Amino acid sequence: MSASAPSRKRVIQAPRGTFDILPESAARRKVVEGQAEKILGAAGYRRIETPTFEATELFARGVGEATDIVQKEMYTFDDGAGRSLTLRPEGTAPVCRAYLQHGMRKLAQPVKLWYLSTFFRAEAPQRGRYRQFWQVGAEAIGSDRPETDAELIVLLADLLDAVGVRHDRLLLSSLGTPETRAEYREELKDFLRAHEDELAEEVRNRIELNPLRAFDSDDPRTRAVMRDAPKLLDRLTERDAEHFAQVRALLEDAGVRYELDPALVRGLDYYTRTVFEFTSDELGAQSAVGGGGRYDGLIELLDGPPTPAVGWAAGVERMLLSARDLAPPAELVDLFVAMAEPDGSRTAFELAREARRAGLQAQLELAGRSLKGQLKHADRIGARFVAIVGSNGHVSLRDMGSGDQRELTVQDVIPAILRGDG
Ligand code: AMP
Repeated sequence: MSASAPSRKRVIQAPRGTFDILPESAARRKVVEGQAEKILGAAGYRRIETPTFEATELFARGVGEATDIVQKEMYTFDDGAGRSLTLRPEGTAPVCRAYLQHGMRKLAQPVKLWYLSTFFRAEAPQRGRYRQFWQVGAEAIGSDRPETDAELIVLLADLLDAVGVRHDRLLLSSLGTPETRAEYREELKDFLRAHEDELAEEVRNRIELNPLRAFDSDDPRTRAVMRDAPKLLDRLTERDAEHFAQVRALLEDAGVRYELDPALVRGLDYYTRTVFEFTSDELGAQSAVGGGGRYDGLIELLDGPPTPAVGWAAGVERMLLSARDLAPPAELVDLFVAMAEPDGSRTAFELAREARRAGLQAQLELAGRSLKGQLKHADRIGARFVAIVGSNGHVSLRDMGSGDQRELTVQDVIPAILRGDG
């Protein structure tokens, strides 16, 4: 007995806030990946991939309970055995977990790692903001030297340049150490409470939980109040101020231009000392292309020993949106194997396979086109040569550039192409 199938008018769509990476886009992404590999690899960063989901606790502790990410943006689910898992919303906490789990502190420090992975945040989708997105990220774990901060910033600047991200600005600040920050937090809270009536409701509601976020507000009255707010940069200890001065000097020597932004508040709780963000005017509201900073306290939060570290992450989609002219290299097809007669099928199949084994890009007719149709198709895909397989192992090899065509035995086809003489 069969019930009649419901009529379907609309094909199933990808979930809201997600997207397909179609071949055209995959080719552009490959350029980003290749540049990341080259630029980070040259500086001794090695690739790491962590699982797509982790224990929820990792992010609750490692990102911070008070952050937007943990409060409302995580895809959290029960694994069916009473454990709470979460699709990773960011990469730093997982990399630090892996560092601890695999005893990487026994390696030469700092351990320099990079990744290119998908991340998940339940945000309101808009241009440049998705629920599943890709980030390329780099982390140097086990060094407190200002050279490490500066090197990572320079590497991200180089990557953005190499990909062609346009009109980027670099915002830079220092958040000091946790103690300075705690004291400053109280000072800022006092200041905000004193101006409570002039603040946007959202800011007022978060004075206790996350007063620094007041600097992020778009509300004009709040912004006016914040202009006179005490700034963390003016409260740094001598050592932090010195560290920051060295980072700045190294960037200046490297010719990397930056703007000091004392209100720069990154979305994650764990940053200490240096924080930075690259923005692109091409992007509209979601202008941040990539950013990061030092997170000297994170490993301890994850029950590891005190371990200084610094890193960044850059959004691949935003890089691609901003680098509009980024064109992938053309795809080459050395050989298209056509069939003059249906009985050439087995010879044609074998020829295409042998050609690939010999290192050629070779495609086979798969659609049962007429010979004329096959030649047209070969032209459309830009094949350099077409081998037209006839009966009893004879092949006509056509050079699509010159139009020259000659008769060969099937064994001679690949050597002829490899010699380039068709
Ligand atoms: P964050 O981990 O929030 O500092 O993000 C680092 C970078 O990832 C940002 O500068 C963006 O380029 C990118 N990014 C963050 N969230 C999203 C998102 N929801 N969709 C697309 N890209 C994102």
